[in-house]
Parts: sequence; structure tokens; C-alpha cells
Amino acid sequence: MFISKSAGNLIDKAQDGKELNRKEIIQLLTLPVNCSPELFYAADKVRKEQVGDEIFLRGIIEFSNHCERNCLYCGLRRGNAKLSRYRMSEDEIITTAKQIKKTGIPTVVLQSGEDSFYSTDVICRLIERIRKETDLIITLSIGERPLNDYKAFRQTGANRYLLKHETASKDLYKYLRPGCNWQNRLQCLRRLKELGFETGTGNMVGLPGQTLEILADDLLFMRQLDTDMLGIGPFIAHPETPFAGIENDDIELTLRVLAIARLLTRNTNIPATTALTTIDPQGRLLALKAGANVVMPDFTPENYKIHYEIYPGRTDVCSAAEIISKLKEDFQSIGRTVLYSPGNRPGK
Ligand code: SAM
Ligand code: SF4
Repeated sequence: MFISKSAGNLIDKAQDGKELNRKEIIQLLTLPVNCSPELFYAADKVRKEQVGDEIFLRGIIEFSNHCERNCLYCGLRRGNAKLSRYRMSEDEIITTAKQIKKTGIPTVVLQSGEDSFYSTDVICRLIERIRKETDLIITLSIGERPLNDYKAFRQTGANRYLLKHETASKDLYKYLRPGCNWQNRLQCLRRLKELGFETGTGNMVGLPGQTLEILADDLLFMRQLDTDMLGIGPFIAHPETPFAGIENDDIELTLRVLAIARLLTRNTNIPATTALTTIDPQGRLLALKAGANVVMPDFTPENYKIHYEIYPGRTDVCSAAEIISKLKEDFQSIGRTVLYSPGNRPGK
């Protein structure tokens, strides 16, 4: 496919790992649509060179959909009175972690709303039990907590922490997450890194009020913070939030952000998010061909999973065994294999 010389030069520059400024990132985001294959190919090549052809699997357990926050974009917000709320017991979480272990997947991701019902002690006890009873690598994704909690989680044996910055615009962040401030999010991320967690950040693409400049700042922030993992997914409007009905599920733009993130951050672990598969059945494979190298099959028990409604239409409501065999088929179709290794960022 013919693309202009300047577009080709810019993609080459990104592929070679040369520094890109904000204006150049915006140019990449706004290249004519016929340039996408070239951009995704460059990101795929860098992914192959830096983190190889294997896809790392992480098993996720969404253990509580209670949330004390009221983020405008999220279906779990406390203002959503229509959501039926659940909390998994410690034993249920351990049983589910054992199911993950049985499949050979080496990592569990424990995710929830911000739910102080699970106190520092409860989370530490869970970490201890998972380490003792399964030896899985533990990733937490439970939002903002007092900085001392992070220390306790790390000392007890948690290895990784996902805390997306969501948007690099302080004003937009404040608007989208009432009562929160961006500086605190940044402080949490810095602390997590200092404590030696493999740390993940990331954003949503297509948020109301988001501009291309803000997206470029997201990407510059990801490069500058130098976290180990990046979660990049499309914003999907939930009918029981203030953003009901907003059509913003832009897969093309999301894939571009993901591809540019790979080009800028080189050897990070980047999942093909569930949100991508939700807006397009091919979303996962498209992401894996545009720079992604991680997939997170959902092991939350089915009676709970249907209520973890961050956004509507979440897919993957099938058994763990079905998930794994379907994923293997998909991966083979694009010449990739599953790796049952911890999948640390190279050099970590
Ligand atoms: N409560 C924790 C937090 O906010 O970090 C973790 C759970 S939260 C549900 C996980 C992620 O869901 C958030 O980081 C956010 O990016 C994503 N999310 C929330 N609402 C969404 C929406 N409407 N569309 C797409 N992603 C969404
Ligand atoms: Fe709660 Fe996280 Fe959803 Fe915000 S994004 S409402 S903190 S679950």
C-alpha cells in the first residue's frame, strides 16, 4: 500500500527507537487510514525483537464489584444502584487461584473496585495464602490505597501492581474521577515502583473530553514513567453512568495508541485487553498484531463475572478450559504460541 514519504519516514523513526516529540506522536495518531498497516507492522516487529513471539497469560479474578469511588465512566461506580453487588470470600478466591494454577498459568491478577471491606490485613492474608497454597505470581489491581498498604502488600509477597493513570490531563482526571486527584495517582505509581513492584499503568482511548494532544501526553507519560506493563483499552459507555449513550468505542484509534506505546516503550508487557474484544470480536488478534503480547483470561466464577460490569457486553463468559483452548487456536492462526512462564519484563 502506497504511503507518503513523510509518513514512512516518521514510522521508520519510531521503529528505530528514536525519540518522538508530542507533535510527531499526534502526526502518527492522525496519519491517513491507509498508513495503519505500516504502523502496526512496525510495532509488531519491535514487539518480536524486544519480547519475542510468545504470548504471556495472566489469570484474572475480579473478586469484588463494590466500589467507594464514583468515576463517571465506570459501571462499578458507587452511584450505580442497579448493579447487583458481590464480594468473593477468601476461600472462593483461593479455590479460583488453584484453578488458575491447574491450567499452568503462572500468574494471578486480583482485581476489584476500591473496596475497603478488604482491609490491609485481609489482602495480606490472601497474598500469604495464595503464595503458600499455589505459589502463583501475584498482581494486584485494587486501586489507590494508603502508601503503607502497598509496602505491606509487597512485604507479604505481592509482585506486581496495575494502576492505570487513565488520562494524562489533570483537569480531565479530576472531572472523570470526582474527589480524586492526579497528583495522588502519580504518587501511588512512584511509590509502587520504589517498592520494587513490577508496575503497570495505562489509559482509556475515546474518553469524553479527550483530545489528540491528551492522548499524545498519555503516551509521553507512559514512556517517561517507564513502567513494566501498559493497559490500553477503548472507553465503552455504560448505560448506568453519566456517559450513557456516548459512542466512543474507536478501535482504530485504540490500536494506534497501543502500537505507538510499543514503539515508544519497547520491551514492556502490553495486554490485548478484554475491552478490545468487546467492541470487535477480532479485537484481541488485531491488538496482538499491533504490538500486544499478553492476554488475561478471566477466571472469575460465572455467577459473579456477569456482575463485574465495568462496561456492557463483556465477552469471555465461558469456562477456563474453553478460554484456554480457544486462545490457543487464535494464537496459532497468527503464528504465535502461548508461554507458561512468568513473563517478567525483560531485564527484570
Ligand atoms: N478500581 C481499580 C482502579 O480503578 O484502578 C481497578 C478496577 S477498574 C474497574 C479497572 C479498569 O477498568 C480501570 O483502570 C479503567 O481503565 C477500566 N474501565 C473502567 N470503566 C471503563 C469503561 N467504561 N470502558 C473501558 N474501560 C473502563
Ligand atoms: Fe471504582 Fe475503579 Fe470503577 Fe473507578 S474505575 S469506579 S475506582 S472500579
